[in-house]
Amino acid sequence: MSTDTIFGKILRGEIPCDKVYETSEVLAFRDINPAAPSHVLIIPKRRIQNAGFAEENDKEILGAMILAAQEVAKVEGVFETGYRLVFNVGPDAAESVPHLHLHVIGGRSLGWPPG
Ligand code: AMP
Repeated sequence: MSTDTIFGKILRGEIPCDKVYETSEVLAFRDINPAAPSHVLIIPKRRIQNAGFAEENDKEILGAMILAAQEVAKVEGVFETGYRLVFNVGPDAAESVPHLHLHVIGGRSLGWPPG
């Protein structure tokens, strides 16, 4: 399997994205097919395939992604109203891009459990 993905192309600036937030470790941009009024993806700049492939030395970047989600929630105006953080892992979870990404979803009341 190729290690490159559409998110790698975004990181290299080969295709555009609607950037929301960025640090030296992560990039956050709006999902092209939003599931809610606010739907942002946070990706590590160093590729990890998905949460199921995260290793001991990925702990720092995983924490950085959670902290970035707080900042994204503030930018998006959902920090107080609430938001959902999702990692889809593998086929049954409908993971479609094999570059770790954290969905930050909000802006409406979200049902639980997901369908
Ligand atoms: P997942 O199903 O968890 O792998 O989520 C992948 C997400 O990436 C989906 O919600 C897609 O809508 C989103 N996506 C795919 N290509 C792009 C893109 N070029 N820019 C922004 N979001 C994208």
